[in-house]
Amino acid sequence: MGGVDYPRTYQEFGSWFDDDVDCREYLAALRWPSGFECPRCGHDECWMTGRGLRMCRDCAVKTSATAGTIFHRSHTPLSTWFGAIWMITSQKNGISAQGLQDAVGFGSYETAWAWLHKLRRAMVRPGRDQLGGVDRRGMPVSVELDQSFLGGKSAGKLGGASDKVPITIAVERTAAGHLGRVRLEVAQRSGGLDMIDFAQEVIVPGTMVHTDGAAPFIRLTTLGYGHQATPSTERSRRVENIDAVTPGPHLVSSLLKRWTAGTLHQGLSNRHLPYYLDEFTFRFNRRNSRARGMLFYRLLQQAVETDPHPLKELTHG
Ligand SMILES: [Zn+2]
Repeated sequence: MGGVDYPRTYQEFGSWFDDDVDCREYLAALRWPSGFECPRCGHDECWMTGRGLRMCRDCAVKTSATAGTIFHRSHTPLSTWFGAIWMITSQKNGISAQGLQDAVGFGSYETAWAWLHKLRRAMVRPGRDQLGGVDRRGMPVSVELDQSFLGGKSAGKLGGASDKVPITIAVERTAAGHLGRVRLEVAQRSGGLDMIDFAQEVIVPGTMVHTDGAAPFIRLTTLGYGHQATPSTERSRRVENIDAVTPGPHLVSSLLKRWTAGTLHQGLSNRHLPYYLDEFTFRFNRRNSRARGMLFYRLLQQAVETDPHPLKELTHG
C-alpha cells in the first residue's frame, strides 16, 4: 500500500530514508516480513548489536539484513543504493549507466554499469508465476508465442545479419483482448523446437497457445497445451504484416527495440542481453502500475532475495 509499504513521492522517499539505519530497517522488514528468523537455528528472537546486526537470542549467531543479498559487502552506503533504485524505478524507461553515473556521482562508468546489472538480476523473481491459466475472474488467458530478432544494424531484415539474436516472446492475451504479462528469452537458435522448450518452462499446461502454425508447434498439444495456429500462407519472409499472425509478440518486439535503442545508449552486448530482457520484462509487466513506488518496493523485495553478484562474476562469469 502506497504511503505504508512504499513511498509514493520523491518527498516521501526523502523523509523515509534519511540515513542508512532507515534503509537497513526497511530491508529487514522486507527480508523477514513475518518477523526475524535466525538463518542458523530458525529462532525468532534477536538482540540488536551496536553495529546494526541482529544476534540470535538462542544460538548467538549474528546476521545482517543485507547478508547474502545484492547489498552484501557493498562499501556504498545503503542510502546511495536506495537513491539509485528510486531513480531506476521512478522513471518509466529506466536509466542508462551513464545517466546513473552522472546522477549518483560514481567515480567510474564501470561501477554504475555493475550496479545496474546487479539490480537487473533482482528484477526477475525466482520461482515467478507461469503465464496463462485463468485470471482473477476465472476467465481463460491465452498466450501468443513467437520469435523476433534483436541487435545488429539491419533492423529491417528479419533474421538477416548474423549479429542478430533470436528472442523468444510469450505474451498473455486476456479474454477481453488485452495484453497481460510477458516472458522473454534469448533463444539458442531460431525456430519452433526452441520455443517449445520455452513454452513448457513459462506457460501453465492447459493454456491455449497461439503460434504461426510452424510444424514443430504440433507438439504443444501432446504436451498438454491447447494450440491454435494462425494460417501461415502469408508468412513468407517478405511479408511485412506479421501483426496479423501474432500481434502480441510483434508489439512487444517493437517496444523492446525502442526501449533498447532509447535507454541503453551504449548499445547491446549480446552476452548481457538476458539481463536487459529481465529489465524490460520487469517494466512491461508493471506498465499499468500507477504507483511508481510499487516498482521500488518490488525491486527491493526481490533484491533481498537475490544472491550477491560481484563485479568479477558479472564481467567474466
Ligand atoms: Zn539462532
